[in-house]
Amino acid sequence: MPTIAVTGAASGIGAAVCAQLENEGHTLIRVDRANADVNADLSTPEGRQQAVQATLEQCGGSLDAVVACAGVGVTAPSVGLIVGVNYFGVAEYLEGLETALKASGRGKAVIIGSVAGSHQVAAPHAMAEAMLDNDEAKAREIADDSGEPHTAYAASKYAVTVYGRRKAVEWSRQGMRLNIIAPGAVETPLHQASIDDPRFGEAVRNFVAPMGRAGTPDEIASATSFLLSDQASFISGSVLFVDGGMDAMVRARQF
Ligand code: NAD
Repeated sequence: MPTIAVTGAASGIGAAVCAQLENEGHTLIRVDRANADVNADLSTPEGRQQAVQATLEQCGGSLDAVVACAGVGVTAPSVGLIVGVNYFGVAEYLEGLETALKASGRGKAVIIGSVAGSHQVAAPHAMAEAMLDNDEAKAREIADDSGEPHTAYAASKYAVTVYGRRKAVEWSRQGMRLNIIAPGAVETPLHQASIDDPRFGEAVRNFVAPMGRAGTPDEIASATSFLLSDQASFISGSVLFVDGGMDAMVRARQF
């Protein structure tokens, strides 16, 4: 059965993705800071290389798919960390596995972005531009200097979505597919931490999708499973909003 590497596998959406894919019979390589098949810190260049090497060893050089789910939210210990994990932890891990994805003859990837990537940041934003220029030191410096976790979170999700769409063009020419899921609020420890934070709690509680509820990790896992399946064989470079109508509400005159 296909081998799929999932980052952020130990919690929330990543854990639900793993449960669903395993149920479907896939072989998984779980990647996280701890309690995973590959324990590595995706916030640093060394940790990312370690994650890539260990994943390559475990898949034997041929990988069918990657789900890049690891991420930190607005309550992260530093603003720069948001950029380090949410953008570079995705891009460098994927780049390191490109050859293995090609080797399988059917490489696919899903990046878990966020509805925040299309809402809160006016593109082009200097922080997002630095990420897309692959300049981690500059992106982290701008992020830390700004002291604005929401802007950094939105910029990281905007940039990783643009990165994914650019990659999808390249990959699609080689028979591979890459798509991005943009979840709205989903009931996970990350979301709960923002609700519990006195700085952000009220705003998060008041920002409710038209469906009147947050999503469940299983609802994001179902969308991921679909995008990796042959049912999605002509879908590449898409951004799938799984957000209870949030994006349609906020960007009422755009798409
Ligand atoms: P979560 O905190 O439950 O899970 C995130 C996982 O990523 C954890 O297991 C954590 O250990 C791992 N991780 C964080 N930093 C890491 C690092 N440096 N190296 C390796 N692993 C690391 O959160 P979640 O809500 O399941 O988030 C999953 C993804 O979904 C994130 O990218 C997040 O931005 C995105 N997202 C979440 C929501 C939401 O409301 N929950 C909404 C939109 C997007």
